[in-house]
Amino acid sequence: STTPHKWNFGAGPAMIPRPVLLRAQAEFLNYNDTGLSLMELSHRSAPYEQLNNHAQQQLRTLLNIPSNYKIIFMQGGGHTQFAAVVYNLLAWRHHKNAHQGDWKDIPVDYIVTGAWSAKAVEEAKRLGANVRVVCDAKKALGGYKGIPAESTWLTSDPAGELRTQDAANNRQPAYLYYCDNETVNGVEFPFVPSMHNADVPIVCDMSSNILSRPVDVSKFGVIYAGAQKNIGPAGVSVVIVREDLLHTSEGEHGLLPVPLMLDYKTMAKNNSLYNTPPMFAIYISSLVFEWLLDAQAQKVQDGEAYFVGEKVGVEAAAARNERKAGKLYKALEESKIYRIVVEDKAARSKMNVPFRISATHKDDPNGVVDKKRDEAIEAEFVAQAEAQGLLQLAGHRSVGGIRASIYNAMTEEGVDVLVKFLQEFAKQY
Ligand code: PLP
Repeated sequence: STTPHKWNFGAGPAMIPRPVLLRAQAEFLNYNDTGLSLMELSHRSAPYEQLNNHAQQQLRTLLNIPSNYKIIFMQGGGHTQFAAVVYNLLAWRHHKNAHQGDWKDIPVDYIVTGAWSAKAVEEAKRLGANVRVVCDAKKALGGYKGIPAESTWLTSDPAGELRTQDAANNRQPAYLYYCDNETVNGVEFPFVPSMHNADVPIVCDMSSNILSRPVDVSKFGVIYAGAQKNIGPAGVSVVIVREDLLHTSEGEHGLLPVPLMLDYKTMAKNNSLYNTPPMFAIYISSLVFEWLLDAQAQKVQDGEAYFVGEKVGVEAAAARNERKAGKLYKALEESKIYRIVVEDKAARSKMNVPFRISATHKDDPNGVVDKKRDEAIEAEFVAQAEAQGLLQLAGHRSVGGIRASIYNAMTEEGVDVLVKFLQEFAKQY
């Protein structure tokens, strides 16, 4: 059967394609005829070195990554990148400025469209960076419900954090940061920001939508992604960085020294083998890349298959993701009890679909909402879904409600099952 026993709608760690799990199981005790499990091999061994290079090459092929970009595997998840970005790019910009002035005066620009970009801002501030929030969607829209028009950025700066003299002095920010897909809030960019000139590198957190659609890597300075949503297991993060941005600070010119484990240049120079890498996570990631790249790889030992006969690659995944998200949003829009959280249709995520249940106003003669009862109905929704094998549908603990995550690994069949469940559940109210 191609059908998993359960459908996993969790936001992350998320579903791994079933053929990948089966293949890993088959190779678990004896990796590549070494007689050892991959976990037991030296990271300096030839088979691992081969895997390390192969995984990078696969990702390069999948995302069509130009040759002037390095691919590195790092540890510490997305949160570690919140800090790594600040250290590495301030060191680069200060160097580029010929170390004129204080690094603390160099602006770093952030677009905040949800919980994860907000957390990245917090970290940059902790490290003492001169953070300018050039767009704050929550303040502009009264919640993380979309993406304010690009023409309002910078000038909108509702927190008053933008130092206008920076613009007047024409001081280049070290980078412009944004999160391509806000996993908690379901806001996804349908475009790449272009508010600065090409001298300002764009840094993008693609943790929850990497490989879900093609991307023009050449527009970015740094792209990073924790693996545990659309790639593989937690423990590894992929960083794609333009070579000319690699600059290590040794603490000169008053700069913060970049901790070696956060240093892109050290990692790149050592081909992600500076220290012991999270080998097993990288191995599974490589199997996921193969699954995306190669239809033959989908034919696993016991005959289970996935998407067999369908096209492979990121473009095919994107088409499938469009169809899946389209079906789900349509079903939610057609029902009277569901409310999609992201109002800005163009910014609705194809990966994470947060929605609320609002059923009580229908019972009340004056249409009054009973928030507590609606929340109880949401809990009931999650419980009934679980009982039918539709797992992990509760929204993020910070926002509540329901969230269906439909990454690459979720099949169209899984979305159909969820849509049917949504419709059946709605009939009870
Ligand atoms: N960025 C995004 C978009 C995320 O979804 C997450 C986690 O869910 C993070 C960053 C933080 O990742 P980690 O938990 O690996 O530190």
